[in-house]
Amino acid sequence: MTATGQHILIVEDEPQLAHLLEDYLEQSGFQTSIIHDGSQVSQSIRAREPDLVLLDLMLPGVDGMTICREIREFSRVPVIMVTARFEESDRLRGLELGADDYICKPFSPREVVARVKAVLRRSTEGSRKIPPTLHIDESRFKAALHGKDLDLTAVEFQLLKILAADPGRIYSRSQLMDQIYNDHRIVSDRTIDSHVKKLRKKIAVVSPDEELIHSIYGVGYKFEC
Ligand code: CA
Repeated sequence: MTATGQHILIVEDEPQLAHLLEDYLEQSGFQTSIIHDGSQVSQSIRAREPDLVLLDLMLPGVDGMTICREIREFSRVPVIMVTARFEESDRLRGLELGADDYICKPFSPREVVARVKAVLRRSTEGSRKIPPTLHIDESRFKAALHGKDLDLTAVEFQLLKILAADPGRIYSRSQLMDQIYNDHRIVSDRTIDSHVKKLRKKIAVVSPDEELIHSIYGVGYKFEC
């Protein structure tokens, strides 16, 4: 295992769980620090910004959602929310507050390490990176995959552009709607679903074996090669 030296801040009030995460992350070459009390998180990040924050949602004092919102007021540090709550609304709210990913308890520490690595890879590769096989021409509203035109409608083009601009990032349907329909018109979740369906079909025409737009159950969509 190679030492990455990257610093992961673990925000977790259950000491056993915090130490379990610490052990696994350190075995994988990360440096870690632990905060048990939610009220100290923002201050700690301002003093020394970690490479990633693992943020438990259920904390005494200040809850994880509030902390996430606070962090986003001054920092783009990647945040993975850790939650025992499975409600869709919590996951959505977390993503809308700017979390990069979430993990549901109970989890395997190995899964956490894998997610941490994936989110760090995304954030260090640069968030605007578009896969080389996909060409997006913003001025002409045209997209091509493997050199072949995708022939998209304006909404399909926007969807693809938003999703592909940040591969791996999960977008909720309402985040996608907000970005596509900036005239605040009321559209239902199913509108997005039906545009995604059409977009997928057009991608399949050019590249039948490639799944680029992935559904995240109960949450939304992400782009991944
Ligand atoms: Ca907790």
